[in-house]
Amino acid sequence: MDIKNKVAVVTGGASGIGEATVHRYLSLGASVAIFDMSKASGIEPQPEYKDRVRYYSVDVSNEDDVRSAIEETVSRFGGVHICNNFAGIVYGSKLVSKTGVHKLKDFGNVLKINLIGTFNVMRLIAEQMARQEPISGDGDRGVIINTSSIAAFEGQIGQVAYAASKGGVVGMTLPAARDLSEVGIRVNTIVPGLVQTPLFDSLPAPAYEALSKSPLFPKRLALADEVARLCQFIVESDYTNGECIRIDAGLRMQPK
Ligand code: NAD
Repeated sequence: MDIKNKVAVVTGGASGIGEATVHRYLSLGASVAIFDMSKASGIEPQPEYKDRVRYYSVDVSNEDDVRSAIEETVSRFGGVHICNNFAGIVYGSKLVSKTGVHKLKDFGNVLKINLIGTFNVMRLIAEQMARQEPISGDGDRGVIINTSSIAAFEGQIGQVAYAASKGGVVGMTLPAARDLSEVGIRVNTIVPGLVQTPLFDSLPAPAYEALSKSPLFPKRLALADEVARLCQFIVESDYTNGECIRIDAGLRMQPK
């Protein structure tokens, strides 16, 4: 799919990898709807993008929020062809520690945003895409890119909730691609390692240094735009479907 003149919905697009992807899609000529709970993005006010980007205040786990933001996106831009699900939270707690047992409520909250939120947006976006006319001879109607993490495969100590949520995103990928194949919608999942985003802002310098050395090569965190470039590849590569793609510089996380 050529990104130029297409319409992308990017959840979590106000920060980090989502924001870099919004920027990349805009620079390639797409219109973008940002679905996020925070309005911190510096993209929307940029004059060159004024008419091609809109921000919608959305909690991805809320059906009404997502439905109404999709309706507004379609009425503003005419449809949706690309959907990136980045909205997510990190959370750390051991199953049992000196301070007590892992709270059931906290486990549920991580699953609600990272997994149910991704499912909620994916199903409602797919419903919208399925209504649209195909945009290629293959019958292509759209592409959905969800975001997992290498924690889905190598969750560290304290990551049981986060790893479960991201493992769920991996698990949805193939069945979702199978379900949506009959309406010409591809579904893929990106699986990042360590990416330089505000997520790491609060990390003490020594911990950040140690993390930076953990990938095989290059020995640094990924730039958010390097992950955005993988998303660009997935959108443009019509033969990429039902796949989970790691982008981690060979990193395999250790227990802690
Ligand atoms: P980030 O914190 O910079 O951005 C996440 C965005 O999601 C924020 O703008 C936040 O407001 C939004 N958000 C959170 N909950 C939401 C909700 N309920 N509804 C709508 N928006 C919501 O994080 P990031 O580092 O850019 O991470 C983006 C995605 O990539 C996340 O799913 C994260 O788990 C995943 N990931 C990140 C890394 C990394 O190293 N940064 C590694 C692997 C996976």
